[in-house]
This record gives sequence, structure tokens and C-alpha cells, in this order.
Amino acid sequence: MKEKVVLHHLKRVNGEEIDIVIEDGKIAEMTGAGQARGDQEWDASSLYVSSGWIDMHVHAFPEFDPYGDEIDEIGVKQGVTTIVDAGSCGADRIGDLVANGKASATNLLAFLNISRIGLKRVDELSELAWIDRDRVKEAIADYSDSIVGLKARISQSVVRENGVEPLRIARELSLETGLPLMVHIGSAPPDIREVIPLLQRKDIITHYLNGKANNLFDASGEPLPILTEAIGRGVHLDVGHGTASFSFRVAEAAKRNGINPDTISTDIYRGNRLNGPVYSMANVLSKFLYLGYSLEEVISAVTSRAAQWLGRPELGRIRVGDPAHLTLFAVKETPAALIDSEGERRVSNRHIEAKGVIIHGKFIECEVRA
Ligand SMILES: [Zn+2]
Repeated sequence: MKEKVVLHHLKRVNGEEIDIVIEDGKIAEMTGAGQARGDQEWDASSLYVSSGWIDMHVHAFPEFDPYGDEIDEIGVKQGVTTIVDAGSCGADRIGDLVANGKASATNLLAFLNISRIGLKRVDELSELAWIDRDRVKEAIADYSDSIVGLKARISQSVVRENGVEPLRIARELSLETGLPLMVHIGSAPPDIREVIPLLQRKDIITHYLNGKANNLFDASGEPLPILTEAIGRGVHLDVGHGTASFSFRVAEAAKRNGINPDTISTDIYRGNRLNGPVYSMANVLSKFLYLGYSLEEVISAVTSRAAQWLGRPELGRIRVGDPAHLTLFAVKETPAALIDSEGERRVSNRHIEAKGVIIHGKFIECEVRA
């Protein structure tokens, strides 16, 4: 886009209508609707615009099975301009992941798995020898532009006999490197009451709305005290929907109790993209509209709030002079069924459809099945 391209009549989530002028890959101008002039003018009057969506939890290393996918399939083709790979790779393969990211249209950032093998196996913390502290530090030094935190998956099938020991080591590595932790929670052991107290300000709990027996809410849907205490310490709550980690029942209880997501992420990979229950970022966002969150709240959870956590505010705003990374989407007022990780269905009357992104000076159309 060397020429001046005008997108007319875009709606922002606060209802304001604007024109955006893009020139040389940058936002050149923003005006009232219908006022801007350029070399190419497009009518975008049925569409919403936000800064490019950020997905804080994806699996973007296609070689690893089952938890892998192609970067642009889960990025720009979903309306997501920045993906944060959630520990697919440890020190052994992080270089390959970062190189793949540079060859893709989607921006890629990553949590480094504390296990050097990453998700080459799905019990990557079952052998403590796979947590190689020197290799962790070398990887962080080599890829400091891309690594935003450390990932530790602390659930039974991952840690086997090791309980919270991998998390204790992760905590020490966090202290030594200054990087926060993203901690996956799931089935016990370890008991969730041993896990959450180890988390500190800026750490992320991902899968916080999972419906497994070891979840963060009691039988009547009240948040466990360890959860409210963690929120008080500044621990960040991330959705990480995934194949097995998002329950409408738990999400409804969380909403009732005001335990709201800081960021909405998919935990998407090939299997749950093609076969559900994730399908796409837009599908996950629609679930939060169904739960009663406003469009502004939902979109801020994949734009400004994620950007703020990342310490990259420019990724979460639309401002003249910034590189243009935008997501164009529609909000359809037609009924559609949504399904959670437990097979529970809800019918929502509003859903979000990703239509396209603008990134690196190009328009890329979305290709989303659901
Ligand atoms: Zn994951």
C-alpha cells in the first residue's frame, strides 16, 4: 500500500464511526466518517475495526503433534495479527519457532517452555532433568526480542510424579531471568491449592475457566480463596479455551462473581481448530458475548489488555504514525450454537466474524470455518 488507501465508515467498539487512511503500511490519518480522501477508497460500512487481535495462548509449531499448527492458519487467517506461542518449544527448538515466525505474515512472540523438549512429548515435565537451567537462560539471551515469559504446564499428565516441583524451579528461573510465568492448570495432582499460592504479580493462570475436578471454583460456583488472593496479588487470568479447558458452567459462575478474564485466548492448534470446540478466535470471543460481556470488554481482552501485559502498548491501539495492524470484523445478530470443552451447547444471538486484517501494509482476508 504505497498509495493512500481509505477505509470509509468503520465502526469502533464504542460506536464511533471513522475513516482510516493507510499509507506506506502506516496509519496516516483518522477522520470522521466519510471525510477522508485517497487514491483508493473502500466502503467498509458494515465492519468494525480494532487494533489487530492478540492471542496470548496458541500452539504454532506444526511439527509437534497433537499440539501444533501453521502460524498463519491460527494468526492472520483468524483475524489475529499477533500470536503468543504458549510453550510449544523449549530451549531445543525455540530458534526454529522464532525463524518460522519471521517467515510468516503473523507477528509471533513466545513463552519458553521450561522443559527443553517442549511439546515434543506431552509429559514434558515428568523428568526434572529436562529442565536445563543453563539452556533456559541461553535461549532467553538468544531470543530476547521474542520470548515474553516462561511456560510451565502444571497438571497430572504433564508432571506425573513431580507434583509442584517443576513450578518451584520455574519460580526460581523467573526470579533469575526477570520473566513472568504462564502456568497451565488442570487435573490433580498437584492440588490447585498447592499451585496458585506460588504465583506472583504479572504471572498468568491460563485455563482459568476449566471445568475439571481441580478447578478454581467450588461446587456452588464461588471462587476459591486462593483465586481471589491471587487476583489481589496482581496475577493475570487468561482463558486458554483449548480442547478441554473452557466450561460454560464455570464461566457463568465466574461472570456472576465478577471474576473476569484479563485476556481471552484460544489455546488453538490443528485438532481443535478443525474439529472444535475452539474453531477460531472469533468463535471464542462470541462465547464471551454470550456470557454477557460487552463488545468493548471482549475486544479489549484481545487488544489493549494483552498489549499492556506484553509491555507493547502500540500493539493495542490505533494511532496516527503507528504501523497499521488492524482487524476488521462483523457482529452478526443471528442465532448460532456455541459449544464448550465439556460438550455443553448454548445458543447465542450475536456472534463475531473475523473478515480481514491489515498488517505489513497488506490486506489479508480471513478464512474461518465457524
Ligand atoms: Zn496450550
